[in-house]
Amino acid sequence: KQLILGIDGGGTKTVACLAQISLDGEQTILGRGNSGSSNLKAVGPEKALQNLLQALQQAWSATDLAPEPVSLAVLGMSGAGRPEAQVLMQQWNMEYSISQRFMLVHDALPVLAAGTPQGHGVALIAGTGSVAFAADQDSNTAVAGGWGYWFGDEGGAYWLGQAALRAVSQADDGRILPTRLTKAILDRMALSEPREMLTALSQRGDVRSEIAGLADLVTEAADQQDLIALQILDQAAEQLAGLVVAATQKLALGNTFSLAMAGGVLCGSQLLRDTLLKKLALKDVLPDKIEMVTDPVQGCLKLARRELATNS
Ligand code: BGC
Repeated sequence: KQLILGIDGGGTKTVACLAQISLDGEQTILGRGNSGSSNLKAVGPEKALQNLLQALQQAWSATDLAPEPVSLAVLGMSGAGRPEAQVLMQQWNMEYSISQRFMLVHDALPVLAAGTPQGHGVALIAGTGSVAFAADQDSNTAVAGGWGYWFGDEGGAYWLGQAALRAVSQADDGRILPTRLTKAILDRMALSEPREMLTALSQRGDVRSEIAGLADLVTEAADQQDLIALQILDQAAEQLAGLVVAATQKLALGNTFSLAMAGGVLCGSQLLRDTLLKKLALKDVLPDKIEMVTDPVQGCLKLARRELATNS
């Protein structure tokens, strides 16, 4: 038997999952652990490491086993695209004896592995951030989006939360229609009027998560037919459709491909998914298979099994 480890490192949470592979290739999940963000860019290396180790430790404590190095770890991490991240993670892997072999991959790769029949097509993530990742049959890949929350990540939770705050401030001024978002946000933040939002945010430790945490209020208000929330959701769908189209065009993937979707925002809103598919259809893009990936760490394990089967 062999032990494998999957880690799904997102902008808000990290999930670790340990599994055992028997000689005939059967997989048994041994334990799971959860912690906060391990996005290097967003929370910095110290916090990212701390959360990574915490999720791993929790996964080990859920098993009856004493921690030992696993044969292969596959980490799908947001914000870890740069070569420095590879070096740093390898260093941690050695220092904390996490695994004998270690693969750090783009966080969309496990989504593609779990959500498409052949492992190619497009993975679209709208979690805290957003990205579209396309892969063709020859394993060529292309990315659109994933620029981080400072100036990108359109359609992701941070972007939606920010749009909601912007709408509340503009509605307070009378520049746009009144919106349900005002009450929803004031309630969530335990405030009595919009002018308090700025001070309240500046007093919170983690403004990024705080803002991203407001995204569900937009999808909820949109479900209740709030016009402003519907507009924001429509823009999100437009942006996400744009990411998909851009990624497919870079690879000349054509208009029909498997689409795997993941991330809290896409998983949480049927309306957003429907609007996105309509926008894609208007651009003549018609995915032939659409799959929601609710637990991307399973994709990490799948990549690990595939790697062990081909290269061990
Ligand atoms: C990160 C990307 C990631 C994307 C989707 C962005 O904020 O910068 O690395 O792929 O979110 O999770």
